[in-house]
Amino acid sequence: MKLEKRVGEALLRQLIANSAIPLIGSAVASLLVAISLIGSIESYIIVGWLLLVYATLGIRIWLTRRCQARLASTGYDAGDAIRYAMTAGLSGIAWGIGGVLIKGATPLAMIVIITAIQAMVMGGVLTLGTLVPAFIAFALPAVLPMVFVLAFSGGVANTVLAIYSFLFLALMVGIAIRFNRSLRYTWQLTFEKEDLVTSLTEAHDNLALLATTDGLTGIANRRHFDAVIEVEFARLYRSKAPLSLILLDIDHFKLFNDAYGHVAGDQCLKNVAGVFQRCITRAPDLAARYGGEEFAAILPETDYRGAITLAEKIRAKVAGMAIPHCDSGTESYVTVSLGVVTLDCTKVQSPLDAVAITDRQLYRAKSEGRNRIASWNGMDVHPVCESMLRLTWNTSYDSGEPTIDNEHRELFLLANVLLEKVLAGNTEPDQFKQAFDNLQVHIVKHFAHEESILLEHGYDRVVDHTERHCVLVESAMKLRRQFEESGVSVGELVEFLVSEVVVGHMLNKDRAFFGLFADNKSAGVTS
Ligand code: GH3
Ligand code: MG
Ligand code: MG
Repeated sequence: MKLEKRVGEALLRQLIANSAIPLIGSAVASLLVAISLIGSIESYIIVGWLLLVYATLGIRIWLTRRCQARLASTGYDAGDAIRYAMTAGLSGIAWGIGGVLIKGATPLAMIVIITAIQAMVMGGVLTLGTLVPAFIAFALPAVLPMVFVLAFSGGVANTVLAIYSFLFLALMVGIAIRFNRSLRYTWQLTFEKEDLVTSLTEAHDNLALLATTDGLTGIANRRHFDAVIEVEFARLYRSKAPLSLILLDIDHFKLFNDAYGHVAGDQCLKNVAGVFQRCITRAPDLAARYGGEEFAAILPETDYRGAITLAEKIRAKVAGMAIPHCDSGTESYVTVSLGVVTLDCTKVQSPLDAVAITDRQLYRAKSEGRNRIASWNGMDVHPVCESMLRLTWNTSYDSGEPTIDNEHRELFLLANVLLEKVLAGNTEPDQFKQAFDNLQVHIVKHFAHEESILLEHGYDRVVDHTERHCVLVESAMKLRRQFEESGVSVGELVEFLVSEVVVGHMLNKDRAFFGLFADNKSAGVTS
């Protein structure tokens, strides 16, 4: 609505809200005037005048109610303001006729009439002043007849009273106009301030949305994902309900860009994001672009079966779009690989660990041939075994290098899963193999990361350290082969994990390079 119209509406509302006082004033004052005129003029004239005043009051009350109802139902209509001004004019005419009755009145009645009309006009400044035409329509016909009668009645006193009454009228009109101007200005400022607050709030909301939305695909961005997973992790840690995560990566997307160009690549990302988002419909779930051609979903309170079903649906829908991809390996269209994990948050160190474990599954899906899902059920831990044998992380194991420390923690986690599977006794061979392969893949990847970080930092015993890594990888492979051939006992597994990997390597050999990152550790760099 235009500012001028909004101000008009506010003033009309204010006029209506204040309308009771002048109406009551008019009813009382006209009664006093009528009483003071008794004996000066004919009674029927007095009664007739009184009836006229009350009739105009009745019309004004009716109109005020009507305006109120219309404002509430259909909103502001300038016609209502005009009608209100006209009825104020009727009231003014009725009072003007009262002013004419001054001719032949006793001095007391004259004083009562002049005072009553002036009081009505003065009160009108504050009430009718919100609508200047209404004030003028009332004040001019109310005062001018009395001025004329006094001016033509002869005598100095009457002339002085006429001049005084005229000057009074001019003064009141001036004050009413100024009062109205300042009221308009105040309302204008109020509305401008309101508009400013509204537009600032909108701008703030838009910025907040931009800050959490990915510009290309329109779904949540990494920043939003990081914020939501922190909150959900903390919530599910308390409730112990499962947290499922999905990481999706488009297969051979670099080759897609190379073959079809980046514009087509962007469109492909948008299409995949659309499918991803449309599949993730539950209220607390979040679908986000994790980065590049990777997407991530947070599925709070979703069990393993539900998460796998959803991931499979996403995989099939992306494949179903059949976006041509000449270099996608076995298929001729765009495919995706997904890592799916369901976790008990109390068994994971942090949201970061949860994502790292899911990433591991994604890596497995890639290495097992792409266009598939790889999953891990972290809820599937035998309850009897939980307290029996676990590797427990201690902050003194932190080296101060974030990547190394993160990967060491995940190594603990994956080793615990494997121990739980062995201790449970009734674990399916496939589940054991999967847990072992997860650990082995992690160890190989971690060793490679650790070696390049140590090289980067000029560690003088890096060759020796790398050789030790090779020995450990060989031991792991030997154990894996042994499992296939004759099975692995708990003792052998504990020997490998605890004696060789944790005590022998992490707590012994690795400690030799902790000095390289001592500054980070004392500065509080955490992984
Ligand atoms: P893999 O199957 O192992 O995932 O292979 P890949 O080629 O998909 O993976 P890689 O990490 O080698 O390449 C990812 C590619 O994604 C490289 C990069 O150019 C492309 N990419 C990342 N972000 C965007 C983007 O916003 N738009 C486009 N068009 N391409 C992007
Ligand atoms: Mg990728
Ligand atoms: Mg990819």
